[in-house]
Amino acid sequence: MENIIKCLHCGKSNYKKKGFRKTQNRGKIQKFYCFECHRYFTNDEGFYRMRNSEEKITECIDLYFSNLSSRKVRNHLRRHRPKNASHETILNWCRKYVLKVTKYTETLQPQLSGQFYADETEIDREKDHNDIFWCNVDWGTRYINATLYSPYDQNLNDATKFMEKIKQSKRLPKYIQTDAGVFYPTAFKSVFYSNRGKRDEQPEHRINNVSKTGKHNVRIESVFMKVKDRTQDFRGLKALWSAPILMQGIILQHNYIESHTTTGQVPSELAGLKLECGVNRWLGLIKLATFNKV
Ligand SMILES: [Zn+2]
Repeated sequence: MENIIKCLHCGKSNYKKKGFRKTQNRGKIQKFYCFECHRYFTNDEGFYRMRNSEEKITECIDLYFSNLSSRKVRNHLRRHRPKNASHETILNWCRKYVLKVTKYTETLQPQLSGQFYADETEIDREKDHNDIFWCNVDWGTRYINATLYSPYDQNLNDATKFMEKIKQSKRLPKYIQTDAGVFYPTAFKSVFYSNRGKRDEQPEHRINNVSKTGKHNVRIESVFMKVKDRTQDFRGLKALWSAPILMQGIILQHNYIESHTTTGQVPSELAGLKLECGVNRWLGLIKLATFNKV
């Protein structure tokens, strides 16, 4: 993808290189002079005015979403870097760049198999109550194409909203398999059943009642287990405004950063998205998001 340099002040692309700006933590940065508005600017690669190096920031983001708590990431920094960062700073980096990257990934069109597995996970964010994270995985690619974060116990309204989100992902399901959760049948019907066309050409709702069938789909459950594992750090720590953003980071880590253990590939690659991310994939994604601002 093209990297078009634009003036930070006026957005035009009529400039020349003009010396360097020295920064304390990010070395020398190329300066530009804009012929349109006659001001100087530096190229925003996603780390404009950040006081830490992009390598350090993305390393922390990767470690956090790989399932290290923010305090453990901080301790890692203390042992390996001359200057470190507080665990709150690390969380701020995570949230800032998750939001930025998500704006970009929402514009992409993954090619999915349409064989969907939907599940819900309890998030132990507060003492006496659980939030629910609804999550849909595509079997062919292991790409997670729809999620819903809710501060309420399972209910029909949320189940329906979740099914709507699956529908909006533009790949009509061949089927959606769920557990025997009580709200799924009604939610599925109201979103996917239609009076037009033949019933057998419409999406199918498959219910796997594990307590009756004893059948586990281990490969799909490993995806849900990974999501569940990574929510252990959420207890009493994350405010409601923050938890959905961090959950979204876990999904980005799954879809775009880590190779899946059985397929050996990153789900986004299996879904036909060819992104030039380089070795440091978080850094690559942040740059792509910056150059392809929506
Ligand atoms: Zn300008």
